[in-house]
Amino acid sequence: MYEKYVKILKDHTLKITSPRLEVLKYLDEHHTHPNVEEIYSSLKKTHPSLSRTTVYNSLEILKKNRIVQSLAISGSELRYDIDERLHHHFICNRCGAILDISIACPNMDKTLQGGHRVEEVQGYFKGICKKCQTKEKGRSNNG
Ligand SMILES: [Zn+2]
Ligand SMILES: [Zn+2]
Repeated sequence: MYEKYVKILKDHTLKITSPRLEVLKYLDEHHTHPNVEEIYSSLKKTHPSLSRTTVYNSLEILKKNRIVQSLAISGSELRYDIDERLHHHFICNRCGAILDISIACPNMDKTLQGGHRVEEVQGYFKGICKKCQTKEKGRSNNG
């Protein structure tokens, strides 16, 4: 079940280590844009010897190799995302959820025409997510 992640590391000529595989797997299975703390505390349950520093270092290496990307959406806290395609995000002001929005950036063509190579696009939409809106409606119907 780790084959997919072994291949990713190999393709980037990275050393295959257990923490790197675990971090990749976690991000692949949780498209919720977790921060280091979330990844660490979740992995620690099954890998008690894992340290926060190791998780952080693994993320940094994966980031350097453009396997994962980090988003500085909520203040200074970094959120991690394995989806390397360029995409935008929707942030819910109420529950803090960060959702992927797969729309092409309308400014991309112009940027590329300038001969630049785009490696990162950070577009954020903020509002109230569908879940929270449903919750709100439920409340007002009841009262
Ligand atoms: Zn929400
Ligand atoms: Zn994302």
